[in-house]
Amino acid sequence: MKRLVTHESLAYVGHLKNLLEQSAITCFIRNDQLSGGLGEIPFLDCLPELWVTRDEDLARAEAVLGAVKNAPAECEEWRCTLCGESNEGQFALCWQCGGADIPVG
Ligand SMILES: [Zn+2]
Repeated sequence: MKRLVTHESLAYVGHLKNLLEQSAITCFIRNDQLSGGLGEIPFLDCLPELWVTRDEDLARAEAVLGAVKNAPAECEEWRCTLCGESNEGQFALCWQCGGADIPVG
């Protein structure tokens, strides 16, 4: 077993776990119960950790997570320069006025 990620957000670690499982990588979360043991062991040891079960999956798992981190920001919102409306990243044109995200002037 190999530890892949340590992160303070259990939701984030759970999200990564879902991504790995979609890639058929067996993994599990340690320290998903933050309520127990605090005060007895250093806080850092209580952070959620994502582990891959099989060592041979580690490289592939890192590749999956690397692809996530380096993914183009196509889901980021952008603001229409014509009408000022904010748009979801998957829309190339403003849903409000049909304008593209082209700087004015
Ligand atoms: Zn617009």
